[in-house]
Amino acid sequence: MSLVVQKFGGTSVADVKKIKNVARRVAESKKRIDHLVVVVSALGDTTDQLLELARQITSNPPERETDMLLSTGENVSMALLAMALNEMGADAVSMTGQQVEIITDTGHTKAKIRHVGAERVIQELRKGKIVVVAGFQGVTSDGEITTLGRGGSDTTAVALAATLHADYCEIYTDVDGVFTADPKVVPGAHKIDEVSYLEMLEMAATGAKVLQSRSVEYARNYNVPLHVRSSFHEGEGTWVRSEDKIMEKPIVSAVTHDSSEAKVTFLGVPDKPGVAAELFGALADANINVDMIIQNVSEKERTDISFTVNQDDLRDVRKISMKIAESIHAKDTRFDERIAKVSLIGAGMKTNPGIAARMFRTLAENGMNIEMISTSPIKISVVVREENGEKAVRVLHKEFGL
Ligand code: ADP
Ligand code: ASP
Ligand code: MG
Repeated sequence: MSLVVQKFGGTSVADVKKIKNVARRVAESKKRIDHLVVVVSALGDTTDQLLELARQITSNPPERETDMLLSTGENVSMALLAMALNEMGADAVSMTGQQVEIITDTGHTKAKIRHVGAERVIQELRKGKIVVVAGFQGVTSDGEITTLGRGGSDTTAVALAATLHADYCEIYTDVDGVFTADPKVVPGAHKIDEVSYLEMLEMAATGAKVLQSRSVEYARNYNVPLHVRSSFHEGEGTWVRSEDKIMEKPIVSAVTHDSSEAKVTFLGVPDKPGVAAELFGALADANINVDMIIQNVSEKERTDISFTVNQDDLRDVRKISMKIAESIHAKDTRFDERIAKVSLIGAGMKTNPGIAARMFRTLAENGMNIEMISTSPIKISVVVREENGEKAVRVLHKEFGL
């Protein structure tokens, strides 16, 4: 028996006409697939609009209420899609994250899935129904509604695919697949036919928002093959799967960029044991993800520490930084939102020295200063001024012949 999970993103269900199109496509798939689960995001820009409404009420909305508000977006689309399916004679039932038992931790607005029950989903599938699930939302073991972070419907879909042992998970979106760079920034970017979980994970974590990085982590842990493809036509998209199944392994696979981070600098920090632990411990306790970290060579027993965080967390980071700066006797703190992170991703970089040097030279020749660097075996990231971000992507895409 075949079982597939399909996910349709916000742009694919932006209006009634598009919802009807999605319904037609889902009903068509059901003719070939025995058991079909469909995860939907909120219509178009709904999530942004809801956030804007909250902002007009308060600059500091309680995170619990933010989740109550944001989760409504996906409720609208799941019900409308189920109606559209029933209207065309396909038997469908919609379910919220709570009904599906997507149990999360208590990290409101960026909750992590702990467990997926899916008992009711299985019952409905056995009756032959298409189950339409509201993406992005979950519930804590105390019954509080949570959301999974921006782009979280991808993770709902993959988590369900893992729990139900689906054959694969299809991510339908507004581009034809995963590209060598964001096609909206690099017009010459081309679709990649297949990419490994590891490379995709680095791409997602460095700004290729076509998949939420947690969804790729989930897919990798549970070995769920992902097919990212267009919701507007039938063509093959990009397969994301384990490395040993990938035929072609280019040195550099993609260039990504991310303007959603901010740089925080602690100046004149006493250079002694325990200081970094205190600073990053406090951030971890507040559930704040820290990305790049650099610490300078100490001069006169003082050093500078810089790190990047998501701009959405900056308000909390400022508060925590003020307190910690005092307690660790830092001389000053700086906060800079005008940065962009640009990254090269490629499994072949592991065995090909010189890629970093070529990247830095290309940026230098184009007059761009590098402010921070971090590397992993298959990724090199640099921080540049925000206004240079997109240009950096274009020149690197060209330099590496992508
Ligand atoms: P959805 O609403 O379907 O979830 P998203 O907006 O979250 O769609 O993700 C799709 C978008 O991701 C594309 O429109 C594209 O601009 C962007 N994107 C960024 N980097 C890449 C990449 N390397 N390949 C494909 N799309 C990318
Ligand atoms: N609607 C949510 C968002 O805009 C979740 C998603 O689209 O995946 O982030
Ligand atoms: Mg998305």
